[in-house]
Amino acid sequence: MNCPYCGYYDSKVVDSRDVNNGIRRRRQCLRCNSRFTTYERPQSASLFVIKKDERREQFDRNKLLTGIHKACEKRPLPTGTVDKLADDIEAELYRLGKVEILGAIIGDMVMERLKSLDYIAYIRFASVYREFTDITALKQAVDTLVSSEAEIPSPTSQLPLLPSEQLGGTVRRQGRVRKRK
Ligand SMILES: [Zn+2]
Repeated sequence: MNCPYCGYYDSKVVDSRDVNNGIRRRRQCLRCNSRFTTYERPQSASLFVIKKDERREQFDRNKLLTGIHKACEKRPLPTGTVDKLADDIEAELYRLGKVEILGAIIGDMVMERLKSLDYIAYIRFASVYREFTDITALKQAVDTLVSSEAEIPSPTSQLPLLPSEQLGGTVRRQGRVRKRK
């Protein structure tokens, strides 16, 4: 596996973990130090995407990554966010265990995640993917986003909350109520 950035033939593995029925490896190029991800999977896990015109195309992680990258360009997202998002989606796709999947479903999965990550990236992605042809369609999407904002956790408030029953139990056992900040 050559480095996708500089083409060098050698890299070291910096992290490796089991994902579904394969292994995901984070590698670092020994020449330019760029990091990239490789997956090793049995051939049977190959996945085909059904396009709008019914054509089948082998699932291509790089294509997915490029689309998300474009949407997130120059947005203040931590390094690695885009890769992680693509990883999550790919893992979920393989978890579904299907041979074919509608491209639209993948698009929806990306939108769902971008929505809770960054509104601008979400709108950008939507405008390409939903093929907004005029300003009305764009405005509609933004309006929907604004009106649903109350339900969307902002990126800073996305720490996992304790399930309420667990919280209740803790409070009872301790006999006092803890103020949660
Ligand atoms: Zn390199």
